[in-house]
Amino acid sequence: MSDPMLPYGRQSISAEDIEAVTAVLRGDWLTTGPAVTAFENAVSELTGGHRAVSCTSGTAALHMAYAGLGVGPGDEIVTTPMTFVATASCAAILGAKVVFADVEEDTALLDPAAVEAAVTERTKVVAAVDYAGHPADYDALQPIADSVGARTLDDAAHSVGGFYRGRPVGDLADVTTLSFFPTKNLTTGEGGAVVAKDPAVGQKAHEFHFIGLVRDPERFEITDEGPWHQEVHEFGVNYRLTDIACALGLSQLRRLTAFKKRRAEITARYNEALSDVDGLRTPPQRADVDPAWHLYPVRVLGGRRREIFEGLRAAEIGVQVNYIPVYWHPVFAKQGYQRGMCPNAEQYYREEISLPMFPDLTDSDVDRVVDTLTKLVR
Ligand SMILES: *Cc1c(COP(=O)(O)O)cnc(C)c1O
Repeated sequence: MSDPMLPYGRQSISAEDIEAVTAVLRGDWLTTGPAVTAFENAVSELTGGHRAVSCTSGTAALHMAYAGLGVGPGDEIVTTPMTFVATASCAAILGAKVVFADVEEDTALLDPAAVEAAVTERTKVVAAVDYAGHPADYDALQPIADSVGARTLDDAAHSVGGFYRGRPVGDLADVTTLSFFPTKNLTTGEGGAVVAKDPAVGQKAHEFHFIGLVRDPERFEITDEGPWHQEVHEFGVNYRLTDIACALGLSQLRRLTAFKKRRAEITARYNEALSDVDGLRTPPQRADVDPAWHLYPVRVLGGRRREIFEGLRAAEIGVQVNYIPVYWHPVFAKQGYQRGMCPNAEQYYREEISLPMFPDLTDSDVDRVVDTLTKLVR
């Protein structure tokens, strides 16, 4: 504990987590064994009882989800620019055109009215992001997707454990993707999962992450080879998560309720201290959601974001900015995506700072962040 820099996010690893991992190392399976099955079952139980497929990252999960939905050349996906680039890039990698719809001015969540204006007969997927852990408005988004024969995707990298109108994250969109990166709401080191309501989509995502191997004899096109036989119908990759990682994930899942509770306490403490500070804007919460807060995104008004960010970093407070609008990335800009396209997202980006937020953050850490920030903006 010699580093004085307060991180903006970090994992919480308990003695039980360590024991769970070492138990796997002493056993027979390092990968694709009983811990993978148990973890996938536990994720499924948490997310509405749908098929859950674990994988090596949230990015891998997005790639699998779009592949499972059959996204390819000629298709369009409609998504938010206020996200990590993978939400969009994984569809682009499969040959789809990415269409960005703007976010709501206050929540930074995909705006259903903007989606309504962006969908066409070519739209295959409407991909929302539960920014900061606050679920998007799926009851508004689903009928818009349905009206053009598209599916909904929830990039729930921030929000696992959250609820919308009494339904858990994982049960909100047709397909949901999770990330278990160390800063996220629970971790497997690197890791992720796809949750699919349609079993055919779940199976397709599973096969895509398992090299495309088909192992069900009833589906074989090459028959009578022998008991060793398996065959490939569509190309896939190897995104399998290990038993080592899944054992950590299972142990972390038992702690998710406590993590969520502590993150809510930290959010409340920041809100209480910062909501009346001139020059700052605290994150709103809609009445019909129970978020699993991953980020604490505060907004710095008056064009002072960079100055305040640098002041916090100079005070050894780890802060981040989430996110640069995705279409500003040169890979999209070079394809002709223009700045100015989604003004709410761009304004949000200009003002946003993510304050330190993780379960082991203490009240006195929060108070130190608050004191430093309020002095800087004064
Ligand atoms: C973290 C994140 C991802 C990617 O997850 P990795 O596990 O880091 O690959 C995707 N989308 C969002 C919104 C994220 O925050």
